[in-house]
Amino acid sequence: MLKDTIAAISTAAVDGAISIVRLSGDDAIEIANSIASINLLNKKSHTISYGFIVDPITLQEIDEVLFSVFKAPKTFTREDIVEINCHGGRFVTKKILSLCLMQGARLAEPGEFTRRAFLNGRIDLTQAEAINDMILADSNENMKLAIHGIKGSVKKLLDPLLENILDIIANIEVNIDYPEYDDVEMLTNDVVLPKAKAWLDNIDTILDRAQSGKIMKEGIRTAIVGKPNVGKSSLLNALLEEDKAIVTDIAGTTRDIVEGHIHLGGLTLNLIDTAGIRDTEDVVEKIGIQRSLQAMEDAQLVIVVLDGSRPLDEQDDELLEMTKDKTRIVVYNKNDLYEVADGISISAAKQEITPLVNKIHELFDHHKIAIEEPVLGNERQIGFMMKAKQSMLQAVEAMENGLELDLVEIDIQDAYTALKEILGEVHREDLLDTLFSNFCLGK
Ligand code: GDP
Ligand code: ZN
Repeated sequence: MLKDTIAAISTAAVDGAISIVRLSGDDAIEIANSIASINLLNKKSHTISYGFIVDPITLQEIDEVLFSVFKAPKTFTREDIVEINCHGGRFVTKKILSLCLMQGARLAEPGEFTRRAFLNGRIDLTQAEAINDMILADSNENMKLAIHGIKGSVKKLLDPLLENILDIIANIEVNIDYPEYDDVEMLTNDVVLPKAKAWLDNIDTILDRAQSGKIMKEGIRTAIVGKPNVGKSSLLNALLEEDKAIVTDIAGTTRDIVEGHIHLGGLTLNLIDTAGIRDTEDVVEKIGIQRSLQAMEDAQLVIVVLDGSRPLDEQDDELLEMTKDKTRIVVYNKNDLYEVADGISISAAKQEITPLVNKIHELFDHHKIAIEEPVLGNERQIGFMMKAKQSMLQAVEAMENGLELDLVEIDIQDAYTALKEILGEVHREDLLDTLFSNFCLGK
């Protein structure tokens, strides 16, 4: 069991107005009490008390602080927790932490508070992951996805499916183990097959939406390609101007260019490195460069920039040919220099790129629905969902080929386990629990 008490500085490692040293575990209150000027042992749970940190050996007063006392089980980790709000200098904060360690706490590993919250059943694995997502969120959309996740949206999404599957598994097992037991419906392929197909549909829908969630969370991998001097850099600058988030971006305006992401009305473009394509003098010749090809291959959106003021040449044709199967937007730039607007025509230099921005929204806005609904949060979750799909597909095929249910059950069981893995809940016990609560077999 997790009996030891862990401690860590829970705020960022910079000087600030306030820092928090957090303790969690059976001895959290006792350890905090041993370095407090006041008695914390008699404090009610979920109360904040004013006092001082006192070095128990030298009796030196260290800092003026607030002690927040939270008693198990209604805490983040379901253990006793004390949070010490101190003045936020790095030196004093570290000193308080070291006193906690001296008094018997162990330095927490990264994520260990959240891990305890998970292991102690306070949150499921997807919620734990969402907490991390919230910390890393850098847009409204990411924030929304994270808060849904923290509130347990994935569990809510999966629970009805899990329940349905478990009912059938339990029923099949009873059929196998107690074939003579009359009170339980004898399942056949005719009954289970349509159910399995419906589960498969459900899984497919969840996987589809997960792709949308991914696009909202991670951004659209975007390549801007075109031969030299068509205006790619100018377009990049114009897009950055459109990025309203950049005004408030703490990292600063130029930072985002380096990171390569642009926020456009709820969508994020992740510019992928197409340097090999962008910088080359001779597109046709150098386009074969592996990296550039790969970048284009990986892109979820390719913006092909053409110079609308000149006739297209071989290099343009080559690029158009190469990208024809991709989700792409062909833009004719420099429309301030030419008359006839053909397709999507813009002027990057004059920052008149609305038709392009509109087209991006037209192509990708439908993904926005993902942040309003429960959605899988990351590759790990998607991976297990794909595993569930694979197993369920096998179950369906097996039934279609007339296999006995006791053989099909293994695949259904695997699908169920994969789904449970998403939540980090893989026990055999719940299967047994359901089995015995649904059917009274006490004879
Ligand atoms: P890149 O090599 O594709 O990145 O192209 P640049 O963005 O460096 O632009 C090449 C040249 O075209 C520069 O002199 C730009 O000022 C010019 N340019 C870019 N966009 C436009 C535009 O919309 N209109 C006009 N008239 N010139 C442009
Ligand atoms: Zn950003």
